[in-house]
Amino acid sequence: MQLFAIFGDPVAHSRSPLMHNHVFKSLGYRACYTRVHLKEGSRLRETFFRLGLSGANVTVPHKEAAYEACDEVRGFARTVGVVNTLVNENGRLIGYNTDADGFMFAIRPFGTIRSVLVLGAGGTARALGARFRDAGFDVAVLNRSAGRLEPFNAQGMTTHTWETMPLRSFDLVVNTTSAGLEDESLPAPRELLEPLLSQARFAADAIYGKVTPFLRLAAELGKPCKDGADMLLGQGVLANHLFSGESFDPEQIEKIMRESFAF
Ligand code: NDP
Repeated sequence: MQLFAIFGDPVAHSRSPLMHNHVFKSLGYRACYTRVHLKEGSRLRETFFRLGLSGANVTVPHKEAAYEACDEVRGFARTVGVVNTLVNENGRLIGYNTDADGFMFAIRPFGTIRSVLVLGAGGTARALGARFRDAGFDVAVLNRSAGRLEPFNAQGMTTHTWETMPLRSFDLVVNTTSAGLEDESLPAPRELLEPLLSQARFAADAIYGKVTPFLRLAAELGKPCKDGADMLLGQGVLANHLFSGESFDPEQIEKIMRESFAF
């Protein structure tokens, strides 16, 4: 029996155990997926091996710590320095990033996107920003503090804090902050956010399982919007592919994982 987990702080809200366990059960795969409330990212590696895990997902706020914890980082995660999926490969910790492609999967229904405003500058913002640049989008980043903006500047994105953000239009505004996850706060002051959202075509939130104040505001302004459920689904399918050594058809996994959303 293999054991998998999700690490985070908070982690109680995570639907990943439900999604992955439903896939394991449906396919008769001898594995179980649990959650681990981890306060200190520096203890990630030691905790992973002490629990004898075969693989894990990592959520807020430990994705950068997960990158540091790895013996080897592969693919897109190397470009962005952010890891959300860990695989135990013969005692070596291998890191991947499945968030960005999960998000691209989620915004397919919006059609052609050319410009994006990313709210937040944490691990998720880094992954999405870099993926958007790869896709040729014009990317601007807005964060409440300046400290984490430098890597975005280095990749040619425009960056702003609340004090320096100009009013301009974007096809898509994405909330990647944790504002609204456990509280009822907006990711930026309302007087700044409302005109930006008014001029945008679409809004998306990485948070799932609740209508955040950000999504509520976007809906009030009549914008088509999405919460983070499809992003969760997209990254989960890719993570399962890595956990199972690519033994299952991703389309079948997607179908089974989506069933778990009704639980
Ligand atoms: P990080 O901790 O790395 O980054 C958090 C970011 O949020 C920082 O930019 C921080 O700003 C900002 N922030 C936190 N609180 C506030 C606030 N009250 N007002 C404004 N800004 C705030 O988190 P992650 O990038 O790992 O995750 C971000 C969110 O995305 C989480 O809610 C997570 O659940 C969600 N997520 C969902 C996924 C899905 O599958 N649907 C996948 C990945 C993430 P500062 O730099 O100033 O501190």
